[in-house]
Amino acid sequence: MDFTSARKSMVEYQLKARGIQAPNVLHAMEKIPRHLFVPEELQEYAYEDHPLSIGCGQTISQPYMVAIMTELLELKPSDKVLEVGTGSGYQTAILAELAQYVISIERIHELAEEAKKRLTNLGYTNIKIICGDGSKGYPPEKYYDAIIVTAGSPEVPESLKKQLNEGGRLVIPVGGANLQVLLKIIKQGNDYLIEKHTSCIFVPLIGSEGWRKIGEN
Ligand code: SAH
Repeated sequence: MDFTSARKSMVEYQLKARGIQAPNVLHAMEKIPRHLFVPEELQEYAYEDHPLSIGCGQTISQPYMVAIMTELLELKPSDKVLEVGTGSGYQTAILAELAQYVISIERIHELAEEAKKRLTNLGYTNIKIICGDGSKGYPPEKYYDAIIVTAGSPEVPESLKKQLNEGGRLVIPVGGANLQVLLKIIKQGNDYLIEKHTSCIFVPLIGSEGWRKIGEN
């Protein structure tokens, strides 16, 4: 299978055609070998328009969702980014292409280890992966210019808002277990500006400031 041309089509027909415009996002998604982030038997589907299973009951997000969330973060090359929900590490790689430094937290040890291996093999040196509960952020390295949560939360975790730099952006799916809306929260002084974007469906954010346990949702 010709993964390079599959990737080009993905960018053309799934991203540009639906309004993704940021050149840095389009460029990163055309560059990164998404098929290396899914189990081998699913590689041929890696550039299709839907999420895929990555084991442990989790999924790699649909390409369009990765693109829109990244675009909303408005990353600059000097930014420090926190990602909650490493999963396969695909979104992490995109962030690492666009920002200076990325810290990514994953609660499932096996996924965190696999992602770490993948990203090291691909040569990334500006990523730190941590295993733990990212619903309360990662205070040791605060503050962040951008925070992205790739799991659905019942509400916006206060700790994440508090770890934003002035002008920092937080992008997070918020809502019920089966349907959420993508929110962008921007820190402006003591206020937080809230924008509502597309509706979406993510696996649950499980943690002290997300869903408390599996089964509650
Ligand atoms: N961006 C990932 C999406 C993975 S799915 C990708 O494209 O591959 C969301 C991930 O969030 C899952 O791997 C899940 O285990 C993780 N997760 C859920 N709650 C979490 C929490 N509180 N802290 C860190 N990771 C969490």
